[in-house]
Formats: sequence, C-alpha cells, structure tokens
Amino acid sequence: MAQPWEPVIGLEVHAQLLTETKLFCACATGFGAEPNRNVCPVCLGLPGALPVLNRHAVELAVRAARALGCVVHAKSVFARKNYFYPDLPKGYQISQYERPLATGGHLAFEGEGGPKRAGITRVHMEEDAGKNVHGVGGDSLVDLNRAGTPLIEIVGEPDLASAADAAAYLRALRDVLVFVGVNDGNLEEGSFRCDANVSVRRVGESTLGTRAEIKNVNSFRFVQRAIELEVARQIAIIEGGGRVVQETRGFDDEAGRTYSLRSKEEAHDYRYFPDPDLPPLRIDAALTGGELPELPAEKRARYQRLGLTPQAAQVLTGHPGIARFFERALALGADPVKAANLIQTEVLRDAKLHGLVAELGVTPEQVAELLSLIDAGTISGKQAKEVLIAMTGTDRLPSAIVEERGLRVVSEEGQLLPLCQKLVADNPKQVDQVRAGKKGMMGFFVGQVMKQTGGAADPKLVTALFERLIAEEKP
Ligand code: ADP
Ligand code: MG
Ligand code: ZN
Repeated sequence: MAQPWEPVIGLEVHAQLLTETKLFCACATGFGAEPNRNVCPVCLGLPGALPVLNRHAVELAVRAARALGCVVHAKSVFARKNYFYPDLPKGYQISQYERPLATGGHLAFEGEGGPKRAGITRVHMEEDAGKNVHGVGGDSLVDLNRAGTPLIEIVGEPDLASAADAAAYLRALRDVLVFVGVNDGNLEEGSFRCDANVSVRRVGESTLGTRAEIKNVNSFRFVQRAIELEVARQIAIIEGGGRVVQETRGFDDEAGRTYSLRSKEEAHDYRYFPDPDLPPLRIDAALTGGELPELPAEKRARYQRLGLTPQAAQVLTGHPGIARFFERALALGADPVKAANLIQTEVLRDAKLHGLVAELGVTPEQVAELLSLIDAGTISGKQAKEVLIAMTGTDRLPSAIVEERGLRVVSEEGQLLPLCQKLVADNPKQVDQVRAGKKGMMGFFVGQVMKQTGGAADPKLVTALFERLIAEEKP
C-alpha cells in the first residue's frame, strides 16, 4: 500500500554575518573570547545608549539575499521584538518584521531523486541574543559577548517533502552563504542554526496540516532525524484518532524523540513595533554587496559538464577551499576526472576543514604535476601513492621526489620478460584458465608481477607480454 501521508517542511535558518563588529555597536564579534569582554552600553542595553547600524552587515545581508534570488527592498524597517529572557538585556531584540530586507527568493539543491528547488519567503536582518551558561558551580550565568551579533534569518517556504530533502536544502543553503562569503557555515559554534517546521497531510491534499516547530537542531544529521521522528509522531497521532497541536518542540537525540517545549497558548506575544531609535533602512543602487561569485549549484552543473558524477561534483563544491583547489589544478592542465578522483580519494582524506579555512596538506601544483607524471607513464599508480605520501605537508614537487628516489616505471621488456616467463611456467593451471577464456585470471598474472616489482612495472606492457606468452605456449 502506498504511504498515505506526506510530510511538509519549512526551515527557518539564522546565519551569522561575517563582520568584525556587532550590528549596532563597535564591539568585536569573535568566537571564544572571555565572557562579557566584548560588550558596551549599546549591547548591554544600558538606558540612553543608541544603536548605530553597521554598514558592512547590511552589505553582507544584501549579498546573501541576492545570492538567494530575492528582491531586495529599497526600504525596510527595524522592529522591536519584545520578550523577557536573561540573555536579552534590552528586553527586546531588534529584528525586522512587517518590512523585511528581502523577499521572494529560491534555492536549488540536490534532493532525494534529483535536483529540486524550494522557495525562500524572506531574508531579514536581526541581532543575536547573549548566552545563558548553566551549571557554573550551581549557578546560571549570562555571557553577553554574542548579544548584538549581526544575523540574517532566512525563512523558507513549506516546500520540502522529506527529512532528507530538508537536510539537503540546509546543506545547499549553507554552501551558498559560505561561497559568497557572508557566513562561515559553522554549525558547531552556532554561526548557522536551524528551526524546522513540520506538518503532515494526506497525499493529494493541498491544504497544510497543523505544524510543530522544532527548535535549534544544529547538525545536518540531527535535522534529518528530528524531522523523521516528528513526522512519525504526527502520523501516529492522526491515525490514532487524535489531532496534532501547534507547538514548539525540542529534540533529544539520545532518547530518539521530540518533546513539547511550549504550546501555542503559551506562545509569546512579541508586540512588535518599529524601533524609534533607528530610521528605516534605505538600500540605494550603490549598496549591492558586490559582485557575486559562481554559486555552488552553477559550479556543480559545470563540473558535471566536465565529466564528473553528481556525487563528485557535490563533494568538490562542499567547501570553497576544495573548489578553489580543484579549479587551480585544472588551470594547471590536470584532467578534470582524474584530478577529481585524486582529490576525493587522497587529498580530502587528511583535509582539515574549519569554517572557511581548508587545510589540505598538498597544493594544486603538486597534484597537477603528479597527475602528469602518471599520464606520461613516468611513474605507476602505486609509485604515485608513495610520492603523494612523501610530498604531503612539504612544498616539494613530485618530480623532485621521483628523481631522488629513482622511481620509474619499469617498461623494458628485457627486465620484465624473464619474470613473466617464470610465472607462466610455475602456474600451468592458471594458464589453462586464461586459455579457457577466464579473463579475470589475467589479473592474477599481472598482479604477481606488480607485487614482485614493488608496483614499478608498466601494467600495459606486462599484460601484452602475458598475452603473447600464453598464446605462444598453446600446444
Ligand atoms: P513563525 O515565525 O511564527 O514560526 P511563519 O509563518 O513565519 O511563522 O512560518 C515559519 C516557517 O514555518 C516557514 O519556514 C514556513 O515555511 C513554515 N511553515 C508554515 N506553515 C507550515 C506547515 N503547515 N507545515 C510545515 N511548515 C510550515
Ligand atoms: Mg518560527
Ligand atoms: Zn557593544
């Protein structure tokens, strides 16, 4: 029987803008400072302190909105979102509400079963709150370093139809923001955070079901799992004759469940109103956020046109540092598919990716030269591996290592023929099998020669020699 239910998912994402200073004051935004060091009267919410908008934050927000295909509005309005919480010193958060910065965009992503596209409702600017730190000697303390950090909130349309698609959308969104340089994509440090809105409806129905909002699911894996669990929970409720209630829920990975945080009745009334301390935000023609680079989806399509599989294209566009590495290797003449394979199997194995930084152990110059040595038949694949290990972490070129170690493919018949002759003489059973048409047995012979020469033999020549010998021996 076909699954009679379909999930409907819309994500709200908070992404920290890569500015040096906060949204409305000159305090630093860096992660990891001693608590309450990066604060001033403005972000502490002291009476009489006035906010001054950070132009660079606006530029980055506009840049992000354009990368998401949104219409950026000439006029938007900062509003106060009022609620009480210890990490919110002013008693309100400055956000945008009725007049957001940008609306009506979309995002392309590799979904379940192929490329998909989801709508972006809006992108607006807001400030972050501080952080409550619990359990410090039995106390709860407040760290306001983060208060006032510039964020954009990206509200997605309820266009996602599975947990896997939601995770793919989230990855694609992060990639776009990271590639255009507005966010460091760091989920662990909280600079990219997601709330997932989930409902279910009968397949074929067009009205939306009642949704639950799962707060702060901060890894791609957790997003997928939390949504799967929530979808199953809602289906069970409805099939059991109950009704889903609109509420905010948390996610407990260890217990494998989502749980109620607060119901709609307990929901905040934020009493939004325009912030009287801030004039409307005017975006003139000069404020564009700069030229946009090639976006990850465009890169993926281009890489596929170069012959890469969708998976390989996805891996190589997973980080701007990796894409840059790959493209530099191509510029140096490397074959796209061979370079992609080498990067995926060897280079990425030891890569350290942290935020926008990618430490890759080798350089595109080294990789391009290594590939050309293999291509020219100077060294074998096995020897290439040795060279790769030797050059990792150094700036030595492969040719120098090949020279120094005397690594060369053995492609002289005089050296290889006796070896092949002996193997043929020693293995009559296998010879018969080759004659009987068992192609795979040829691999046995070639493999033996490779083993005995430490991987230095030219496999094409060895194969040719065996073909000749086995044919000659034929009675
Ligand atoms: P709020 O800010 O109060 O959460 P919004 O109307 O701005 O309310 O909706 C926020 C998110 O919820 C959006 O990402 C939207 O796509 C999603 N959403 C709205 N209705 C549903 C629904 N019935 N099922 C799933 N997601 C929904
Ligand atoms: Mg919401
Ligand atoms: Zn400050």
